[in-house]
Amino acid sequence: MPQYLDGVRLLHHQEPQSTTDATLTFAVGARDETLPTVGVAHALEHLVMNTIRRLPIRIDATVSTTTTTFEASGTPERVGEFLTGICAALSAPPVERLEVEAGVLAAEDGWVTHPMAALLYYVRYGARGAGLDWLDGPGPDGITAEQVNAFAQKWFTADNAVLQVTGPVPADLKLPLPARAESASAEAARPQAGTRPRHGHYPARQFPGPSVVGYGIPGAAVLLSLPDGDPARIASLATDVLQQRIEESARHGGGHSYVVDCDSVHQPDGTTDWVLYAEAREGTEEAVALAVVEALTDLAANGPSEDELRLALDRFEEQTATSDADLAAEFAVLRRELFDEPVGEPLDPERVRAVRPEDLAAVLRAALPTAIGYAEEDAVEQWTKHGFTEVSLCPVGGELPAGEEFRPPRVARLFVREAREQKLVLTPDELAVRDEDGVHHVPWDEVVGVMRAGDGTSVVFGANGCVLPVSGDLYRGGKKAVAELERRVDRSLWFKESRFKAEED
Ligand SMILES: [Zn+2]
Repeated sequence: MPQYLDGVRLLHHQEPQSTTDATLTFAVGARDETLPTVGVAHALEHLVMNTIRRLPIRIDATVSTTTTTFEASGTPERVGEFLTGICAALSAPPVERLEVEAGVLAAEDGWVTHPMAALLYYVRYGARGAGLDWLDGPGPDGITAEQVNAFAQKWFTADNAVLQVTGPVPADLKLPLPARAESASAEAARPQAGTRPRHGHYPARQFPGPSVVGYGIPGAAVLLSLPDGDPARIASLATDVLQQRIEESARHGGGHSYVVDCDSVHQPDGTTDWVLYAEAREGTEEAVALAVVEALTDLAANGPSEDELRLALDRFEEQTATSDADLAAEFAVLRRELFDEPVGEPLDPERVRAVRPEDLAAVLRAALPTAIGYAEEDAVEQWTKHGFTEVSLCPVGGELPAGEEFRPPRVARLFVREAREQKLVLTPDELAVRDEDGVHHVPWDEVVGVMRAGDGTSVVFGANGCVLPVSGDLYRGGKKAVAELERRVDRSLWFKESRFKAEED
């Protein structure tokens, strides 16, 4: 029988221990924000944790791309206080602290995931969903009390949460989470009782074949979309052997890399986007790029050695043996339910043990045509000589449409070579810019945000990942173009550049 506490699904792990470990997970993360509210989940987490920070137990909280998690370990009484405090604060976030907390948030490393993973999600999804991991939005000083309250009310409800408890469940535990918003005046907008808010589903950018992007982060990475939820967990094993192979050659072999790791985001179609990344020390960018591309292409062609496969199977078995398999399976099913993902098949240890090197090669080979590689700009060649085509961070292509044209000022055209080709065109349907990369198109109804930068420029962000700065300095008559932006783009999508960011620049 499923157990509930104040409407929150409870997974209880029976262990003969007198202390309690609790993890309260909400099916909401950074990808459920929008460009003008990037950082709202992290701000909310800080405000909430601040209310219980004096509890003398081990506590922690994390916002990832897909989830927000609160954890505590201690006596059942203290853990109970923690959980009740968290839920109460989520119901009524102490937004009066926003300004103080903004400084704390700005001083922290604000990345939801590793920058190389964030960049590759952005190339795949543009300025929405997991792609938002890459963007700053308004910064911690631009998040408003209204945004925090609305986000908490929408997502931090009992039916969007799972509580895992190991050891005794705190006596008389109360979880006073926000009630589903009800408004008599907005009957149509109100979700029906018991229905969780839906996560946005975004199409992936399509490429004609294996692709690679270059940027300034020292290191190399690859994004692979792999099938998910088969009983032998082939994708986990395949990414594990890939990571070990990269580690072996980039870290142990050449001493080029300290950090080799992976990140993953489940997708609603039952696939998972995996990013494997290796940081490079100065001067080793090429060696690390080569390590990643060779590991991938060789494993896809030939599969792992028997040794590599056995190690991966041993690690998998050890992981399964040291966790509560039933609880893990239950949580996996619940997770899929909360995210509206197709239900996977249960793990079958027999099938896992029967996996052969060629099975892993096959799944990697099938992922190659949609793979996106990453390397530091000067090392992209390591990918292109292995058959990957260099693409830009955002889609470019097609012709400039006919419409109202804006060119850079004449002085800029005389002295800046790029400015000669540059042109902005406004039409009733879209804005388009031609620059040295090609033509960028952003339809008006796909503008996801406009940032007013510290220097007065209005920066238009398209859902597809295109970023188009517009100002009177950049274009002759550009003020007229900005006025047109103001007329066409909804107020709620405008935000100011963070003063923390402006100071950095
Ligand atoms: Zn573009």
